[in-house]
Amino acid sequence: MADRVRVFEVGPRDGLQNEPYRLTLSAKIHFINALVNSGIQDIELGAFVRPDRVPQMADTEQLAAFVRQKKINLKKAHAWFLVPNTQGLKRAIGVGVTHFAVFTASTETFNQKNIGMSISESLKEIQKIVDDIKKMEVHCQVRGYLSTAFGCPFEGRVKPQKALKLIEKLANLGICQISIGDTIGVATPSDVTELIKPALKILGVKKTAVHFHDTRGVALANALRSLDLGVRVMDSSAGGLGGCPFAPGASGNLPTEDLVYMLNRMGIDSGVHLESLCRASLELSRKMNRPLTSRYLQAYRSQS
Ligand code: MG
Repeated sequence: MADRVRVFEVGPRDGLQNEPYRLTLSAKIHFINALVNSGIQDIELGAFVRPDRVPQMADTEQLAAFVRQKKINLKKAHAWFLVPNTQGLKRAIGVGVTHFAVFTASTETFNQKNIGMSISESLKEIQKIVDDIKKMEVHCQVRGYLSTAFGCPFEGRVKPQKALKLIEKLANLGICQISIGDTIGVATPSDVTELIKPALKILGVKKTAVHFHDTRGVALANALRSLDLGVRVMDSSAGGLGGCPFAPGASGNLPTEDLVYMLNRMGIDSGVHLESLCRASLELSRKMNRPLTSRYLQAYRSQS
């Protein structure tokens, strides 16, 4: 087993987007700096979505501009931004974004409700986005999210064959990495084997990422199964930020602390300093005036 996993931190975007609490821009920057200082190398900072629909992401342009002006010191980390469509792409390019994330889902109803497009429409939109980015003179990267890859709140269980077809299509569009997402946290390790094993064959290790939610408490087990299958890029969010918009009160993404703790004890390096990360999450937790769901963070807090 290779001894390194790349942790892709999605807290400032996927996490905060699903939190009712709205951080001020300066508090967000403070949190981002703390995450970067803990050793995170890939971090998703915002989404170029409509601010009236997703007010938590309304400061995305400012954040991207701060990155460009180096007012946020990213050190060697990459700052990623979600662009749901070509309008979002234009806004992102305008403020100097170089690392883009695009989005589609495995089920029609979810995709319609989430971005107002059918799956085939969103694949066409992604193709346009990728083509436009290729024309740019600076070196850019595009990452793809495949949501509801295991299950959908509207359509139920998703067959691996269905998700695999979309993974193949996304791979053919020239995307550097595909993050296969259990958006509503229904997968178990046997589901992970069924989908991720063939996905790894299609994509290879570098292009495969997994994105688990802990809605039913199985995210870490799924991460472990992915690790055993050979996955080396995992999405997670600091403290477990972010709920599930379809299950009020439910846990959010796989908590970064829980993932890093497990990796550390298994002798697998992620480059993340666990204590620094905990301090960052606890500070945020105090600011939001609510405990975060990470189990490691709760144990850390009670001991410190
Ligand atoms: Mg998520």
